[in-house]
Amino acid sequence: DVSEEDVDEEETGTIAKPSDEAPKKTFADLGVIESLCEACTNLGFRHPTPIQEQAIPLALDGRDLIGLAETGSGKTAAFILPMLMAVLEKPQAFFGLILAPTRELAYQIQQQTEALGSLINVKCAVLVGGMDMVPQQIALSKKPHIIVATPGRLLDHLENTKGFSLKYLKHLVLDEADRLLDLDFGPVLDKILKVLPREGRHTNLFSATMSSKVESLQRAALQNPVRVSISASSH
Ligand code: ADP
Ligand code: MG
Repeated sequence: DVSEEDVDEEETGTIAKPSDEAPKKTFADLGVIESLCEACTNLGFRHPTPIQEQAIPLALDGRDLIGLAETGSGKTAAFILPMLMAVLEKPQAFFGLILAPTRELAYQIQQQTEALGSLINVKCAVLVGGMDMVPQQIALSKKPHIIVATPGRLLDHLENTKGFSLKYLKHLVLDEADRLLDLDFGPVLDKILKVLPREGRHTNLFSATMSSKVESLQRAALQNPVRVSISASSH
């Protein structure tokens, strides 16, 4: 709702919040643990954005989720915070996988994962194309909890890196699903999904837009998902 967002803008400025306005939620209100709330504060995240407010409690509840919101709305933290909490509960190697369409985005997600996880001991590795496999294989041998990858390079490792498997994966995120499919990663994603466990795996799909391709990816990858959609007018 437009007026509420206007207030958010003004909160850091000089105009006071109307007294009849509901108090803004905090990350703690959404069920985020203290060390992660503190990391949010350190990053300057004072209140959850609308997509974070809607998506985080559902993801913490273990629901498969489709999150639709425009670019810049804070989708990254909406999926990283629940993933970090799930890792903390069961800190196992190759617990979580985040697939992103481009190298640059994969590095941005890694940075935000490390920043949000700075007060907890979570290891994260990046697997992207256009560079040597060997340093990535060394990173994998250290058994990171979370992998951020572009689909082509991930498949390359799944097929060619000895001892690397995602058969115990618990948490999958498909970020920018619309762009993943625009870039024709569909066949690669199909191959990846075939080797991932389905039982006991949570999946979150985030996208700026919904399309028939995204819907078919949703059907292939998610189970009984709940959809959270934040319209552009909320920003
Ligand atoms: P999206 O993936 O939806 O395009 P991002 O996750 O990249 O959006 O977030 C956009 C920007 O907003 C980033 O610079 C991020 O650090 C910032 N951001 C995210 N969540 C919050 C928040 N709760 N409060 C303030 N800034 C935030
Ligand atoms: Mg994003």
